[in-house]
Amino acid sequence: MEEKLRSKEAQNWLKCMIATYTIRDVMADLANDEFQAFYNHIPNDLDAKHGIGKEKTCTTCSDPSKRCRLCSAICIFIYDNHRFKKGNLKGPPWRNTDSTKWCTDAWELAKCYMPETGYKDKPNADTTDFNGIIGALYNCTWMQNCFADDLSQDTNICKMVIHTLPSNKACINNNLK
Ligand SMILES: [Zn+2]
Repeated sequence: MEEKLRSKEAQNWLKCMIATYTIRDVMADLANDEFQAFYNHIPNDLDAKHGIGKEKTCTTCSDPSKRCRLCSAICIFIYDNHRFKKGNLKGPPWRNTDSTKWCTDAWELAKCYMPETGYKDKPNADTTDFNGIIGALYNCTWMQNCFADDLSQDTNICKMVIHTLPSNKACINNNLK
């Protein structure tokens, strides 16, 4: 076993894994900070645009068809900031998120930008895997200000990471040094 770990291929696998974990940790910190800023921004935006008081909160609306004015406005705000939205509020993976926590937990907003499955029970950035983190940052257009790259372009840093890193094979082929 030890001998196998010394092979060039195994060394590249290990480097690849370490690189992935290191990048994940940095991206997790970034996502944590930025979704907190996104969360803090929402009351100001809703107050300015819709006259909803900044202090107003709600922790009861769980039924999408019976949302109060505040929760409806947050829902539309989340939707408006989704990169791949379609008509009728489609785009964000609503099943991922607990809407009764939109006013108290920034990470419930982040979940609205992650892939469809596997993130409902992840309460924070630390417990969320790489795909969830990078998906949240990429799919939320508000996060553009974290990146020098223009994420609206067909080729951009997030897409490259999404398509490359989960495939360790590609990583090994790159023969990291
Ligand atoms: Zn509500």
